[in-house]
Amino acid sequence: MKFISTRGQAPAISFGDVLLAGPAPDAGLYVPETWPALDWSRLAAAPRHDYATLASMVLGHFCGDPDWKERIDRITRDVYARFSDPAAAPLRALGPHRWLLELFHGPTLAFKDFALQVLGPLMNEALVARNRRALVLAATSGDTGAAAVNALANRSNIDLIILHPRGRISDVQRRQMTTTDAANIRNIAVEGTFDDAQAMVKQAFADRDFAARHGLAAINSINWVRIAVQAAYYVSTCLALGGRDVAFTVPTGNFGDAFAGYVARRMGAPVRRIIVATNSNDIVARAINTGVYARGTVEATISPAMDIQVASNFERLLFEALDRDAGRTAALMQAFERSGTITLDPPVRQAITSVFSADRVSEAETAATIREVHARTGLLVDPHTAVGLAANRIAGASDDVVTLSTAHPAKFPDAVAAATGVRPGLPDRLRWIETATERCDVLPASIAALKAYITENPRR
Ligand SMILES: *Cc1c(COP(=O)(O)O)cnc(C)c1O
Repeated sequence: MKFISTRGQAPAISFGDVLLAGPAPDAGLYVPETWPALDWSRLAAAPRHDYATLASMVLGHFCGDPDWKERIDRITRDVYARFSDPAAAPLRALGPHRWLLELFHGPTLAFKDFALQVLGPLMNEALVARNRRALVLAATSGDTGAAAVNALANRSNIDLIILHPRGRISDVQRRQMTTTDAANIRNIAVEGTFDDAQAMVKQAFADRDFAARHGLAAINSINWVRIAVQAAYYVSTCLALGGRDVAFTVPTGNFGDAFAGYVARRMGAPVRRIIVATNSNDIVARAINTGVYARGTVEATISPAMDIQVASNFERLLFEALDRDAGRTAALMQAFERSGTITLDPPVRQAITSVFSADRVSEAETAATIREVHARTGLLVDPHTAVGLAANRIAGASDDVVTLSTAHPAKFPDAVAAATGVRPGLPDRLRWIETATERCDVLPASIAALKAYITENPRR
């Protein structure tokens, strides 16, 4: 299987390359050259597979090479066996036609573990095979950082520098990153906002000489392998529900998780509809509901992992909705980068709304949903999950709807306590971070400072 750029001006690359790739050289995103098909009727008729087997099968469809298949098989088996629930992604019934898909049983309590725990060892094996090292550089508003630290700790050929905005992430999120004792990981608290930290990372990558000299690599959700791995829990859910048509509601930020649902659908799983749920940072909801994809200003919310104003993976959907016309995709994305606004033609918007619906959820509605679910079922849900549950008001009452629960409530104890009066505690296996020593360097919000830091300390 080869991977091509959504903007059509970059050479096709292999699975091993896409594993280590950021954006394509033409600034597009990599997508598979063709959509692989699951043998759905055979799968649905077979005895239930465990989660690791399904994940390996789904990801295996994107690589033709038996060596990679063997690695994927071994790594998925190892990774998902360490999740705290034997099903890895268990379904919980919430009421008639309604389920919650719990994606927070990984080591750092958010769905990002599903992909990063697999991506970390796979990237390392790709680097070892090529006798190369990489310096993964990323900015985080919380969950990605914790998941990346856990997934990359002590990898032989990878160093990680992770930037977070000083004082602007929750204590739990910070401690999950700064308490690592892995020698290949460095935390940097940036004296600025998440956008400042993100801009520093982008500028470091944009300096091509600097990036090449230090072997910079990215692990954000523009990485194709992350998306492909996440398609597996849509497949497992459809199978668990007996192969009937299912709608999924997805709390959405960068649109990676929702696009993974689209991938499962294209591979043949009966994903009937995807409901995109956003907080007040609603760029994707507006695009779907009005046909205008326009940048807004970021507002801080109680669901901070979705506080973004550009949804990178939307480009992949645009490419599909344009029938894979790379020229038109490039023209639209360049217009968006110039002006911050594009309007989708009616057939393009129609192609999107035939699969996606969308709803925007306010802060008050998010808190009210956390409170209501707790009162009705005794369950504590995190604010991101609550945004998804609130958006289900646009689903049909007799449609079967699965809402993705993207984080454990204990990651956002303040918001949950404010809504319910109950403060969710960390699972016992994570309590140690509350008292462990933290290690973190502080930098001003300056690209010069970041470059000097990397040049002076290429490795720890
Ligand atoms: C990252 C994240 C999201 C958003 O996922 P995208 O793939 O960026 O749309 C939602 N909820 C939680 C808890 C997250 O960490």
